[in-house]
Amino acid sequence: MIVDTHMDVPYQLQKKMEDISQETSGNFDYPRAVAGGLDVVFMAVYVSPKYEEDGGAKAFADETIDLVEGIVKAHSDKFAMAGSPEDAAREFGKGKVTVVMGMENGAPIEGDLDNLRHFYDRGIRYITLAHSKCNHICDSSYDKETKWQGLSPFGRELVAEMNRTGMIIDVSHVSDEAFYQVMELSRAPVVATHSSCRHFTPGWERNMDDDMIKLLAEKGGIIQITFGGMFVNTEVHRKNQQAWEVMDAYIAEHNLQGEARDEYVARYRKTHPIGKANVADVAEHIDHAVKLVGIDHVGLGSDFDGVGEHLPVGLEDASCYPNLIYELLKKGYTEADIARICGANFLRVWSAIQGSASKQVTVPN
Ligand SMILES: [Zn+2]
Repeated sequence: MIVDTHMDVPYQLQKKMEDISQETSGNFDYPRAVAGGLDVVFMAVYVSPKYEEDGGAKAFADETIDLVEGIVKAHSDKFAMAGSPEDAAREFGKGKVTVVMGMENGAPIEGDLDNLRHFYDRGIRYITLAHSKCNHICDSSYDKETKWQGLSPFGRELVAEMNRTGMIIDVSHVSDEAFYQVMELSRAPVVATHSSCRHFTPGWERNMDDDMIKLLAEKGGIIQITFGGMFVNTEVHRKNQQAWEVMDAYIAEHNLQGEARDEYVARYRKTHPIGKANVADVAEHIDHAVKLVGIDHVGLGSDFDGVGEHLPVGLEDASCYPNLIYELLKKGYTEADIARICGANFLRVWSAIQGSASKQVTVPN
């Protein structure tokens, strides 16, 4: 069973609506998922940090959930919705792609713990505490400003409530301080749904360093290796950092926002290519993490539809998982090892998180 814990399909569709039951221009659709052997996909209900500032985060998240639900309902012969590892197991082998929802950015919680229950009831099963900016929950690895030195007081309450609810805590994107505080507080295992190894991208907070991966594993959690070129290839990463230094300076100088900013970035990217990673780079990250913490704490979180043209050669879309499996076979991984990496590990961790929640809930909901 192949489980991928992070794809930005809804975000892609919000930019350009297409029918994902047929072949699309994005990275994911039903025919290519089936060709790639993908069984379970976590679709990210991504909420831009601008909603934290301007308001409307909860409403936007609800609309995005409606969109995902609508697609699954309209194509119930091809997609099934799941809210538990048992659901995923039940749907396995029926020719459908099972969809689970995760929320990328906790902004829609809007400082109210009741909203956690609301989103759990709507089918959200993980929350990435922050995205590219600090929010009311915690600091972000991408944000130069630190607001809370880790978690906010509300963020601390939220972690405890996520444990009680069985909501998976996703530490991808958060600052190192926030990560360590979550690890200290959480009574359930914690997941990085789409992060790779900082070992290959020294000093870059968005990837996890060896000590963090070890701590995550020690507490029963898992790192879901992500595929983006700047995450997995040292040279591509370096060029990307250089490009952003130039782009950030220009954007600040000309106060570019919204579409003007996006257009500028697209134009700059076209004239300043940063090169491509390769599927073998992703296998290197998996291997590095396995050597650090063993086979049981590593999985896959592609970020398909989230990193644009920066996907590695050989991992361009949801039909490409066999290329990655081939790389792992070449490295000497057994079929049993590969089955764990591809999905069994994550499902075990998800079950443990749900199990630990049921122990803490006194009144069944
Ligand atoms: Zn992300």
